[in-house]
Amino acid sequence: MPEQFANEIRDTLAAARSQFEYLSDLGIESQVAGLSESNHGQQCFETDADMQAALDTIRKELGDCQRCGLAASRTKLAYGVGNPNARLVLVGEAPGREEDLKGEPFVGEAGQLLDRILLAMGLQRQDVYLCNVLKCRPPNDRDPQPDEMASCEAFLSRQIATVRPQVIIGLGDFAVQSLLKSKESISRLRGAWQDYQGIPLMPTYHPAYLLRNPEGKRDVWEDMKEVLRRLNADGAG
Ligand code: URA
Repeated sequence: MPEQFANEIRDTLAAARSQFEYLSDLGIESQVAGLSESNHGQQCFETDADMQAALDTIRKELGDCQRCGLAASRTKLAYGVGNPNARLVLVGEAPGREEDLKGEPFVGEAGQLLDRILLAMGLQRQDVYLCNVLKCRPPNDRDPQPDEMASCEAFLSRQIATVRPQVIIGLGDFAVQSLLKSKESISRLRGAWQDYQGIPLMPTYHPAYLLRNPEGKRDVWEDMKEVLRRLNADGAG
């Protein structure tokens, strides 16, 4: 069997296993989740290369950012990763230890759970765009401070405006409160559509919260089904 074909089969089986594991975690054994393959396609008004170039320009402007105190303690700035032309953007809080070392959002334990949630939705990490409210890790993973969020805000807003997704998922209190300029808790906001600069935003629990509170996974799955309904309704393009 050609090696490429064998690799494709292995990847497909790994994706199916991960989807099964997340759903069976929830006690959902037989449900077929998902966004069909054709829905991963983008309506490309600009090429992926154009959008990647625009994202690279924003990254260059960040440079060796010294706009707030987090510069002193960070190892690497974690900018954003994924499909520059994604229909779905997920926004988290801030890099943790693994993200700080690698310079990439959502590569630690919470990121692995996020990957499994995406796979359960029929999506791969490379189909979506992942970023955070803060680009640098707060010392000891303490809560983001208002001046730090303010320093990063314009960059996040430009990243989202560049990707122009059909849907944003806000992960956890800080991401959602910062995007919506709200003080409401995530437990009140989750599951109900909000608006971020004309883009539908679904607030849901952060995967790090789910690691501590696995009973929240069922709510997150309800929120993800709502996201899939919206993406499917908006068409494959
Ligand atoms: N938590 C986040 O909010 N973002 C990451 O990138 C990792 C963990």
